[in-house]
Amino acid sequence: MQIDYIIVGHGLASVAVVEHLKKYSKSFLVFSDENPNASSKVAAGLYNPVTGRKMKQTWKATELFPYLEEFYSGLEKSTQGKFLHKKAIYRPFLSLEDQNDWMAKTNRSDHFINATYTVSHFPEYINDEFGGILLNRSGFLDVKEMLECHRSKLISDKQFRNERLDFEKLDIKEDRILYNDIQSKSIIFCDGPLSKNPFFDWLPTAPVKGEILHIKTEKPLPNEVIFNRGVFLVKSPKHDYYRVGATYEWNNLDYEPTEKARKQLTDKLDDLLNIKYEVLEQVAGIRPASKDRRPLIGNHPELKNVFIFNGLGTKGVSLAPFFANEFVESIINLKKLNDEVNINRYYPLYSS
Ligand SMILES: Cc1cc2nc3c(=O)[nH]c(=O)nc-3n(C[C@H](O)[C@H](O)[C@H](O)COP(=O)(O)OP(=O)(O)OC[C@H]3O[C@@H](n4cnc5c(N)ncnc54)[C@H](O)[C@@H]3O)c2cc1C
Repeated sequence: MQIDYIIVGHGLASVAVVEHLKKYSKSFLVFSDENPNASSKVAAGLYNPVTGRKMKQTWKATELFPYLEEFYSGLEKSTQGKFLHKKAIYRPFLSLEDQNDWMAKTNRSDHFINATYTVSHFPEYINDEFGGILLNRSGFLDVKEMLECHRSKLISDKQFRNERLDFEKLDIKEDRILYNDIQSKSIIFCDGPLSKNPFFDWLPTAPVKGEILHIKTEKPLPNEVIFNRGVFLVKSPKHDYYRVGATYEWNNLDYEPTEKARKQLTDKLDDLLNIKYEVLEQVAGIRPASKDRRPLIGNHPELKNVFIFNGLGTKGVSLAPFFANEFVESIINLKKLNDEVNINRYYPLYSS
């Protein structure tokens, strides 16, 4: 079999890269070992242009957010799936001071803000006595559903192999790559965290474990918004539970749910919700983050046909589409890749 690209992994990164390769009619084959704890399978899929205690616009929000909605809507059409859920995020103010700080800022022309409230807006469900802020251009991607739809399409187009790619069997020559029965021009690693990739083990990664609870509330929460303060509550579109998350843990990088994370999440939930709930399940995953919190994208320092698209960290849903477009344009049209994401910033760390 002769192809243009071998793609390793099938998560948010791979889907975005593959879809942009298709635009240029490139041939490819995706290998994925289908780890049930893969970051993309565990993620709640929230996208939110304004984050943190200080409610700051996220990096490159004005470019990333319009692009992600266009990208995933297009993918829904081509896979006949439904996984993009555009929804306003409601973030209650923490205190009168928080409210005042925010009201002082709202005369700025910020198109991510839908409305601000100075009195409680959802008193039947949450503690929001100081009101809150409603954000635009936010929502969630049902990542698991998106991956299933995408995978089915790849299988029917004979572009998917449900197997782990064995690094040792790769034979990388200057003008081609050989792997079992396949001859490919190039290879792109979209293999997420902890994959022990020998080609890119010199990159400064900083994987972060995250845990999420699945809970059932005594009555359904309003469907038009996602509550988010300290924790987010995202309704599973197909099932009768909410995803609540997430925690951050830089040590103990395993897939085991912990008591510590459960307590952190339930403490925050108790602070936010004023209705009863029951914890149904707890899941853990590991985010592929980098030391400087920017994606790790680009070409191997010596092997001109070996590439990486990784390091999406906590924001895979919003980063993947925009940077996959930039990445694919850089390898096909030789356009310059954004310096902040290009792994050439770390070339001095590489020794052959
Ligand atoms: C608890 C938690 C909550 C999160 N919530 C959000 C959120 O709300 N919003 C958001 O934007 N992001 C969120 N994230 C982050 C997001 O999940 C990641 O940024 C994203 O999933 C990374 O995608 P990826 O494709 O790079 O990696 P992965 O999803 O890890 O995919 C890589 C795939 O490659 C496969 N693979 C690895 N090596 C090989 C090999 N040799 N051969 C074959 N296959 C291989 C793996 O099995 C895996 O399936 C969350 C993450 C966690 C853990």
